[in-house]
Amino acid sequence: MFLKSIEIRGFKSFADKTKLDFRKGITAVVGPNGSGKSNISDAVRWVLGEQSARTLRGGKMDDVIFAGTQFRKPVGLAQVSLFLDNSDGGLPIEYSEVVVTRRIYRSGESEYLINNRQCRLKDIVGLFMDTGIGKEGYSLIGQGKIDAILNGKPEDRRALLEEASGIVKYKARKEESEKKLDSTNQNLVRIDDILSTYE
Ligand code: ATP
Repeated sequence: MFLKSIEIRGFKSFADKTKLDFRKGITAVVGPNGSGKSNISDAVRWVLGEQSARTLRGGKMDDVIFAGTQFRKPVGLAQVSLFLDNSDGGLPIEYSEVVVTRRIYRSGESEYLINNRQCRLKDIVGLFMDTGIGKEGYSLIGQGKIDAILNGKPEDRRALLEEASGIVKYKARKEESEKKLDSTNQNLVRIDDILSTYE
């Protein structure tokens, strides 16, 4: 699976619809300082569900919407789509091309779509779990991340290895099952209490 292209509209410095195509192998994005190179990786991170405005180098989430310039009015919507080649079935979905989209309006309303169908953030996280592509995945290495990994806590390094080895989805399912068991146990205790009042 690989990222074929990205379409950006109204996101940060990309006021107009801009489509960037990537080929297999290495692609370098070059340009003068402040021309928007990092905004492209921010856009990828954002579609994958980044919830921290700070990680996206902003103060609040709607800072990602094109804020206007001396010559252009601000826009009301930011939208980014990732087009992924899934002909090798790397993503657990039966499509050879997968399009993942995120939108945000000035009202703060946000939407996620997989192949043009609305979905939840949870579905996006689930789609990319254990592929290394999620917002915490190792396929997106920001500036300073290598140092952070090398100098980081063993738990953080372990999280990275777990994602690479593909066990995160099992851990997530285990945690969900434990929560359900916990709530069932609490219900049982409540039923016992009620029953004991009738005895
Ligand atoms: P460098 O090489 O210095 O790291 P860069 O090419 O990576 O630069 P970015 O950091 O991606 O550049 O882009 C910064 C530009 O994006 C700035 O000009 C900033 O004004 C613009 N920008 C960021 N957010 C918005 C926004 N919401 N609306 C309009 N422009 C924005």
